[in-house]
Amino acid sequence: MSGESIVRTFYAALGEGKILGTKCGECGSYSFPPKTACTECGSRDIEVVEMSGDGELQFYSSGGLPPLRFADYAPYAYGLVKLKEGPMWLTMIKGVEVVDHDKMEAFFTTLPVAVKAKIAEVAGTNIVTFEV
Ligand SMILES: [Zn+2]
Repeated sequence: MSGESIVRTFYAALGEGKILGTKCGECGSYSFPPKTACTECGSRDIEVVEMSGDGELQFYSSGGLPPLRFADYAPYAYGLVKLKEGPMWLTMIKGVEVVDHDKMEAFFTTLPVAVKAKIAEVAGTNIVTFEV
């Protein structure tokens, strides 16, 4: 599958509520978002698979200057999730404190916490976010 068609397949699946990644036939590693070659060993022996949507939030941040197209959603949290299948993903995090710094600090002491993928339309595009 070409890089372009794998991206198209990924977004079409998001519209149907499915989150796709790729699994390597060589080393068994998962890549997310789907790649034409394994991110671990470079093998092109990959298959497109549906991801579980389970992950663990490693950390997040909020505030600062959002990209203009996300300004309407501010303040929001942006964090790093380790997917159950292995890959890391930096994305918007829902269901966490984004204003009160003391509450955020208290929550940080509990990390990593389990999160679940949630497909959300942001600025006209479906993206994979995670919710605590
Ligand atoms: Zn591999």
